[in-house]
This record gives sequence, structure tokens and C-alpha cells, in this order.
Amino acid sequence: MSTALDLKAFRRELHAHPEISGEERETAKRVLAVLNKLKPDALLTEVGGTGILATFGTEEKGPQVMVRCELDALPIQEVNSFSHASTIKGVSHKCGHDGHTAIVTGLAEKLAKDRPSNGRVHLLYQPAEENGAGAAAVLKDPRMKDRHFDLVLALHNLPGYPLGHAVVRKGAFTASVNSMVIALKGRTSHAAEPEHGINPALAVAEILTGAIALQHNVPTEDGLRVVTVVHVDLGSKDYGISAGNAEVHLTVRCWTDAELKRLEQDIEALSRRVAATHKLGIEIGYCFTFKANQNDDAAAELVTEAVRATGHTLVKRDHPFKWGEDFGLFTAKYKGCMFGLGAGEDMPALHNPDYDFPDELIPHGIELFHTAVRSFLQR
Ligand SMILES: [Zn+2]
Ligand SMILES: [Zn+2]
Repeated sequence: MSTALDLKAFRRELHAHPEISGEERETAKRVLAVLNKLKPDALLTEVGGTGILATFGTEEKGPQVMVRCELDALPIQEVNSFSHASTIKGVSHKCGHDGHTAIVTGLAEKLAKDRPSNGRVHLLYQPAEENGAGAAAVLKDPRMKDRHFDLVLALHNLPGYPLGHAVVRKGAFTASVNSMVIALKGRTSHAAEPEHGINPALAVAEILTGAIALQHNVPTEDGLRVVTVVHVDLGSKDYGISAGNAEVHLTVRCWTDAELKRLEQDIEALSRRVAATHKLGIEIGYCFTFKANQNDDAAAELVTEAVRATGHTLVKRDHPFKWGEDFGLFTAKYKGCMFGLGAGEDMPALHNPDYDFPDELIPHGIELFHTAVRSFLQR
């Protein structure tokens, strides 16, 4: 390893060739091409699908640290026209996972130059974060099942915060999030004779009103409950037919997994009551599940020390973020910390069509991860 990696060019290359959750094959190839130059001491590919686990250090008895980044982009059309704009129609890196990948690859470069002698550092390039499937798939991979990590770390860039400011929290960092599909089955009839069918329209209205009434959207309170209607489907545009089927799609979110369970049960009970009243069949399903990210106190302290030691500004936040992050599955199993890194105050928000990860943030992420990891290994 003589010449330094051009991480800005690497990040832009990933940005120009985005792939959605579960399809990050070319992205993984691009990452592997760079990692191979760094000669990791161990390398697993196709982890949980398209994921990669690169290990630096060979000492198995010492501390085992895992640092995660994400490979996937989003099904959003990029509106930017800069030279590294997405070349894939309708797909773009609007969460900055290209930047997170560049940061972890920069960490790999540092670890390759000065390999850990005590313990090992595992760098996980995780697929499919955006649909909540990737972390679960990685943990189910037979090669990951028996592994133990003493510390797991991840970061997310945060538009709206000054560039390079670090947001660290003990306890929850992101919300517990689930998506509900409530399917109602009635019976179609002639539109002239709705009395001969079972039209679910009123039931849909009651479920929506009732579910939204269960909301308590006050982020500063422990009992936060957010209910969002994302999609409703009722009947068809056939004007001779009274609707016979409907689907209500909601996302629900709370600060804790336990509170979310209660909210789901409340919405289920309400929906079943309404369906019974209207003589409708009902099926309730869930998808896109994210566990709350619970930061370990000592791990959050370690990151806080790294923030101070590197001269970064520490930002405290009195409540977690309302979005879901599937790193929560790792912090449910291992002690760890997810923290935020300001991406600039005037940046477009995550998942907005004009968002682009700021390249200036890459060295900040590398330095924070590297400092935290080294100080953990030296303990
Ligand atoms: Zn995202
Ligand atoms: Zn993200």
C-alpha cells in the first residue's frame, strides 16, 4: 500500500452507479476492487446477499469490533445535474450510503497500514438497509451466526446539523418502526344497489380516524406514538361496481419496541372491531420492521471521548430520531453505538431528490471511527 485511496472519486463513482436494496451487486464489486488492494486479513463476500465483511487483524482472543456501513440506494429520481449524477433512471443515493461506504473504506485503509495487534476489526458493508431486510439477512448468514462482537459502531450523516458536528446519545438513537397492512374483504355489488354488497368504505374511514386518534406525536415525551397513513386502496375505477375490497397501509413508530407493540395491538383491536361491525373479513400483516437503536452507555461514552479527542463539536439531543434504522438489530444483539454526523445546515434532507452526500465529511467520519476503534482495542 503506497498511494493513498482517492475516496472522493470512489464516493462519486458509487453515487453515479446506485442500486436499490438487495441488488447491490455492482456496488459490492466496486467495493471489493478497492478492498482487495488493501489486502484484508480475512474477507467474506455475499454476506446476507450482497454484503461484505472485511477483517483487519488476526488475533482472535482480543476485542472484536465491528463497524457497519450500507451499500444500498433508493428508488428516487435524482434531480441534480453535476458530473457524478446517477446514471440509473429512478435510482439514486439519497441517504448518503455512498458516503458511509467511502468512510468505512477510508477506515480500512488506516487499518491496513497499521494492523491491529490486539483483537480484530471487522468492517461490514451491509446490503438492503432501506427496506429493513439487510441487517436481519446478515445476522442469519451461517458464517455470521457464531460470531461475537464486543462493540458495534455505525454512523449516519445528518443534514440540518453543522458539518462535522457529532450527535451522540445514550439510550435510543432511532425509533422503533413498523409498517402495517390492514386488508378488508367485503363483497362487490352493482353500483346501483350497494345494499346488496358489503362496501368497506366506511370501515376504512373509521379505521383511519381511529388510528390517527391513537397518535401522540410529541417527540419530547417517552410515550411518543406516530401513525402515518402511507397508502389506501379501495375498489376500482369501475363506475358500475360498488367497492368490495380495501387496504389501509400505515407506518407506526415509538421510542421503544415495547410501546410500539402496544400501539400495534391498539390499532389491530380497533380494526377488528370496525371490521366486525361492518361484517368485513380482515387480515393484518407487517413489513419493513426496524427495531429501536439502543445505544449502550459505555459505547456512547467511547464515541463521546473520540469526538472530544479529535476536536469535534459534540451535540446533545434530548430525544432520538423518528426514523428507523436496521442497525437496531445489531445493537439488540451486541453492545454498540450509532451516532450522527452533521452534513451541513443548508443541506437538502435525507431522501430528498436533490440531496448529495458532502465529500468534505469523509475524513471526519474516518477520524471518529478510527479514534473510537483504536481506543477500544487498547483497553
Ligand atoms: Zn435512508
Ligand atoms: Zn440511511
